[in-house]
Amino acid sequence: MSRGFLLVISGPSGCGKGTICKKILERNEKLVFSVSATTRMPRRGEIDGVNYFFINEERFNKMVEKDEFLEYANVHGNLYGTPKKFVLEQIEKGEIVILEIDVQGALQVKESYPEAVFIFLLPPSMSELKNRIKKRGTETDKDIDIRLKNAFEELKFIDEYDYIVINDKIEEAVRKN
Ligand code: 5GP
Repeated sequence: MSRGFLLVISGPSGCGKGTICKKILERNEKLVFSVSATTRMPRRGEIDGVNYFFINEERFNKMVEKDEFLEYANVHGNLYGTPKKFVLEQIEKGEIVILEIDVQGALQVKESYPEAVFIFLLPPSMSELKNRIKKRGTETDKDIDIRLKNAFEELKFIDEYDYIVINDKIEEAVRKN
């Protein structure tokens, strides 16, 4: 059986990564989603073990010590990491594993898995990005500012990616993937 591979998707908060990943997964049986661990508090409607593994900092640090993450990073003031075991098992099984992670994490994956495919998702404009985050209604004004500031920082690394997809209309962006 041939080995699977990693599909890394990054992009600013609010550009529609979550929606796109969900739709690509619905269309492809060969794709599996890697559920990350995070110290961020769950948003309304988020389910532990589905959207994220919501854990505290102590537990997160223990996982770091035990080398249980493929990559991890501090994003917008919270810790996020990709549990290694699941990803490696799925690749062995021949699956394509989607990692929806930030730029710092993507760069770490590139070090260990240069053969992974890297996609950067962009909103049509920064003002549209702000609208989308506001519309989501899950972040405070301070958090929105942090996320927008980080969006500009993340853009500096766009050259590291294999594909850039502008998420103008969600349906079209899914088809392009
Ligand atoms: P959110 O809090 O909006 O769910 O995610 C915030 C940011 O963290 C997003 O850019 C998302 O891609 C990133 N992220 C989610 N999981 C991981 C992970 O396991 N590792 C890294 N490095 N970033 C992650």
